[in-house]
Amino acid sequence: MKFAQEFKKALQREGFPQRWIDSAIPYGQLKKCLKKVTRELETIGLDKDTLALLAKGQASAGDLGFHYDLDGEPCNSKLLRPRLTISVHLKDGVVVDATLSPATRDFLEKVALQKAEQQEQPTPAPDVDHESSASDDNEAPISGSDGTLTTTTCPVRQVEIPLVFDGEFFDILQNDVFELDTLQEEEAERLKADIASLGRTMTRTTRPSNGKKARDDLARWRQIFELYLDARIFFSTRESDHGARTAAQALKQLQWFQQEVLQRKHVQGLKLSASRDAFTMFLNLNAMLLQNLKFQEINQLAVTKILKKFDKRTSLGVAKTFPVAVHSERLLAGSMARDLCAQVSSEVIATVPQLDDYLCPICFAVAYWPIRLQCQHIFCSRCLVKMQRKSERFCPLCRGDVIMRAGLDNFDKAHAAFLREYFPKEVKEKVKANELERGKEIFGPDYTEGPCCVM
Ligand SMILES: [Zn+2]
Ligand SMILES: [Zn+2]
Repeated sequence: MKFAQEFKKALQREGFPQRWIDSAIPYGQLKKCLKKVTRELETIGLDKDTLALLAKGQASAGDLGFHYDLDGEPCNSKLLRPRLTISVHLKDGVVVDATLSPATRDFLEKVALQKAEQQEQPTPAPDVDHESSASDDNEAPISGSDGTLTTTTCPVRQVEIPLVFDGEFFDILQNDVFELDTLQEEEAERLKADIASLGRTMTRTTRPSNGKKARDDLARWRQIFELYLDARIFFSTRESDHGARTAAQALKQLQWFQQEVLQRKHVQGLKLSASRDAFTMFLNLNAMLLQNLKFQEINQLAVTKILKKFDKRTSLGVAKTFPVAVHSERLLAGSMARDLCAQVSSEVIATVPQLDDYLCPICFAVAYWPIRLQCQHIFCSRCLVKMQRKSERFCPLCRGDVIMRAGLDNFDKAHAAFLREYFPKEVKEKVKANELERGKEIFGPDYTEGPCCVM
């Protein structure tokens, strides 16, 4: 199937909102416009083969060739103004490059002549200044050409080719990329608000101080989010498949997550209706993110395809230069999923603290009593005391000279309250272990906790 049809069908099949479909890359219109570009180039003797030949000449000889600059005219408009300049050898107004067809040479001579006449006029044309002397009168000795007498003795001239339809083509394409950027920005803002709202709901409903049901749900959520993080739906941090996922991969991972949650009866296990509602919201959010990713992907593909077609028909090489010149912050940068996933983890996942994030990096038990060092790293008080006894000066995580400077002031009271609220069991165990260790230090290795050891 041709891509134009495929693109149209995919837009309909995926159930995107009409407003999205209306903003999609106008592939058909661009294809039509590309025909005009091709025709325009052909009528002046610059068909794709001639331009390919010029590009080849540029690569080997370095003088004959062309330059196609998408942002060639400095103007205030954000829109690209493409400019095609061809370097040819001119002798007494005659193009002497034998590789070019007579029609091409005729045309180039005519353009060069017009340019020369314009420049003889006392009032300079608006773009004369821009035609710098370096590009106009490059009379440096020519090296590496094919050695024929004619070309080696003639100066190289830069001839700017006046074109109309390539400007139209890039106007259409660029305007649409901007429109899609705006659309994605709006969608991202909406999703951001949804994520923030879900985060607030989660914090409210799962606070352990709300009672037993809330505490039970919190434990459930912990398991749900563990699965979610394992699924790495939009991004993978594993070495084997590091980076952003395609929409198809993301869909597969999202399905796996839903299935696992279902099989383990996690949703039925949520005791508060507010928790169950929050889970539905969470799934919807992920579905919307996926939908956005799909739409972005399909439009990115349309841009790539039309640029490749442009190059195939003109040899002007825009597939590489356009994405750089257009400065698309959203669509072509593909930053939406990354930004929103970061927000999901900081505002939703983080409402359900995972023990792993609160361990002391030395003893791997919950970091209680928490001591926050100057470098902001947190250790349990026991491990800090032991480091100080050994006169260790440097933080094992960042090598900051902070250990010996720590004292009672570094006890993080708020963090301690947080750990007691969210990890009561682990905190109790840690306190017991700390006491036992201290007892052994004082009374010797036979010390055991409990009343029986008191003689
Ligand atoms: Zn520790
Ligand atoms: Zn540190």
